[in-house]
Amino acid sequence: KADMAMYSAKERGRNNYCFFSEDMNQSAQEVLQLQLELRQAIGAGQLALHYQPKVELKSGRITGAEALLRWEHASRGFIAPDIFIPLAERSGLIIELGDWVLKEAVRQCRRWHLMGFDWLTMAINVSSIQFKRGHFELAVMEALDNASLEGRFLELELTESLLLDVQPALQQSLASIQDKGVGLSIDDFGTGYSNLGYLKRFRVSVLKIDKSFVTNLAGNSQNEAIVQAIIQMAQSLKIGTVAEGVEDGQTAAKLIDMGCEVGQGYHWSKPLPSADFLRLIKPTA
Ligand code: C2E
Ligand code: MG
Ligand code: MG
Ligand code: MG
Repeated sequence: KADMAMYSAKERGRNNYCFFSEDMNQSAQEVLQLQLELRQAIGAGQLALHYQPKVELKSGRITGAEALLRWEHASRGFIAPDIFIPLAERSGLIIELGDWVLKEAVRQCRRWHLMGFDWLTMAINVSSIQFKRGHFELAVMEALDNASLEGRFLELELTESLLLDVQPALQQSLASIQDKGVGLSIDDFGTGYSNLGYLKRFRVSVLKIDKSFVTNLAGNSQNEAIVQAIIQMAQSLKIGTVAEGVEDGQTAAKLIDMGCEVGQGYHWSKPLPSADFLRLIKPTA
């Protein structure tokens, strides 16, 4: 059994996740132990998707959801994805994990469509390793087919660094996925590289402006300048914009003024279990 000192209860964040303490030196054995438990977590039903609404800023209408992975460890409580996704990537487990997320999110989206919310889109986060080694195209096609969901309701959130070294064969594969109507969002936009050539190479549908620029936007002239520049560039390129990390109404209002289309953040809702998300969208039906 792994040493409980691996986690520090003091470091529990606002979502009650356990984090590794910062000064902790993870031994190879501890990492291995956690990877082992993560492998078992898939079978043990300890993984769940939470869903955070994407909101059309002008109307306040919910347009879709982003699926965010949660690991509820039997004895340690919630472990944050920023902790276990990197572990899963290093062990290759991300392929199995990512496949589960893809299937589950697509199935959930279809369930909501069948309940009458047939306009809802579903976004999933895709890790670079999952994309490059996991027969990704086939997995996406199968997930959509099995759930009878049209591709246009699915959105893939990829990072800039992933797109920067996509080989031609994979570029073709991504294009095939997009031919099915699947959308391509750039996550955490603005935190990656200044080499924007990939915006020409790929049919990017949405730039998700990173929350580090969005949270505390109003009154911070540097953040304002960066966000405004991103929105203007996106508009010129006919690419959509989503601001992530919108925590208050003032920021939402500011974003509307700046021409941003969609927001996501605690101002509307934190990521929710599917039943709670359903309660959130029900009044809009
Ligand atoms: P991300 O895709 O950029 O997701 C946004 C993160 O910001 C989420 O953290 C979300 O809970 C948080 N967030 C949302 N609104 C606010 C807000 O108003 N203020 C603040 N401060 N934060 C907000 P979360 O759920 O902990 O996920 C962290 C990261 O883990 C994600 O960043 C994503 O990169 C990764 N991740 C999560 N689920 C998956 C998954 O299924 N697969 C992969 N490959 N990565 C995932
Ligand atoms: Mg994301
Ligand atoms: Mg993001
Ligand atoms: Mg992020």
